[in-house]
Amino acid sequence: MGFPVCMKHRIALHWQILAALILATLTALVLRLMVAPKATGVGLEQFVAGSLGSCKFVGDLFMRALKMLIVPLIVTSVISGIANLQGVKGFARLGGKTALFYVSSSAAAILIGLILVNLIQPGLKDGQPNAVIGQAFSESRDRASENALAKVAQADEQDNAAMFEVFRSMLPENVFSAATNNGQMLGVIVFSILFAVALTRIPGEEMQTMRHFFQSANDAMIILTGWVMAFAPIGIYVLILPVIYETGVDLFASLGKYFFTVLAALLIHLFVVLPLALRWVAKISPVEHFRNMRPALMLAFSTASSSGTLPVTMRCIEDGAKVPKRVSSFTLPLGATVNMDGTALYECVAVIFVAQVMGVELGFVSQLFIVVAALLTSIGVAGVPSASLVAILLILKSSQIPGAEAAALALLAVDRPLDMLRTSVNVFSDSCAAVVVAKSEQKHTLPLD
Ligand code: ASP
Repeated sequence: MGFPVCMKHRIALHWQILAALILATLTALVLRLMVAPKATGVGLEQFVAGSLGSCKFVGDLFMRALKMLIVPLIVTSVISGIANLQGVKGFARLGGKTALFYVSSSAAAILIGLILVNLIQPGLKDGQPNAVIGQAFSESRDRASENALAKVAQADEQDNAAMFEVFRSMLPENVFSAATNNGQMLGVIVFSILFAVALTRIPGEEMQTMRHFFQSANDAMIILTGWVMAFAPIGIYVLILPVIYETGVDLFASLGKYFFTVLAALLIHLFVVLPLALRWVAKISPVEHFRNMRPALMLAFSTASSSGTLPVTMRCIEDGAKVPKRVSSFTLPLGATVNMDGTALYECVAVIFVAQVMGVELGFVSQLFIVVAALLTSIGVAGVPSASLVAILLILKSSQIPGAEAAALALLAVDRPLDMLRTSVNVFSDSCAAVVVAKSEQKHTLPLD
């Protein structure tokens, strides 16, 4: 079952999405030129504001449709996938390998960020804290939109306990309320795993009936995902247009070096480290894997939400990369919730950058603390846009780096493009885990696959 293609001309979905991305960028740039101060015509600004509002509305509908798929997709795919495993033994092996991949790839990502931010030193100028950026930080409150102020205030309210709530949420008191709360997917996954393992203990025929039930429900969810994805080109067009139109260019000037540091580190992880894992560990062609993952990568880039992308990641991995369901159904939902290489890398670079700007010297122990904190907090960050802001504020405060809120506001102003990239890295890392684990599981062929 492949992705829908434009029936008449058979244009593959990833080309349609790419076209939507390019068209949205062009439209946004043209609109910006048209609304530039001198060129403003009567009512034009209002017309543009109205059109952007409509885009946001339709974009929100598309995101809601994607999110609508998440809970039933996770439940049916985890249960139908794990009920195929050979009891707890097979599951423990799979879980161990997946956890090992997730921890190692996130650690590698953070290390790349750490090395680059120390080499490039984006927060310093001639070895001294960059005063221009310091000024931009202190002015960030005046420039910030209402929305940004509210976001930072909300992130600031979350204390340490809230950030580590994710570990408690693994065992939800009420699985239904966990399912209705976007941030508690881990509880739903853990419950589904336990339920699936329990299913394998039920005597033969009854177990088969349940297995078929969840398998069919999952097949139906896959068809639904295809329907939602048929609207992806429109959805992506309307999501991207306002983002590009509204992204401020002036702040990029002062934060350019920081932006470049994050970008370079993310690209090294995406195009060097993860492909090496594919080539050496899974022994598969990275180019081929990138090709299989195109729709998911483009969707992650456009939505900046790894949770929202999950249904498509699963389809790309199962249909394109041909990873067996018993592996993908476990690694991918878990990965979308806890494995965030791009986010962990970003947190590390952002915190050390702010320390440089604020003139705080970070010794080996302090940097080690930041590395460990980035690794742990990236597990708790939700797969939604700008979610890492909470973790960055938390680490800045725990490291006693001054001006945390002002810095967070300034970073938020240039966050969206970096968020789009780090979300693509997060999703790609999950997909690499799926193929690496699947390859290592090949010798454990199962009768029910
Ligand atoms: N937007 C990211 C994701 O969904 C999380 C973040 O880094 O803010 O994976």
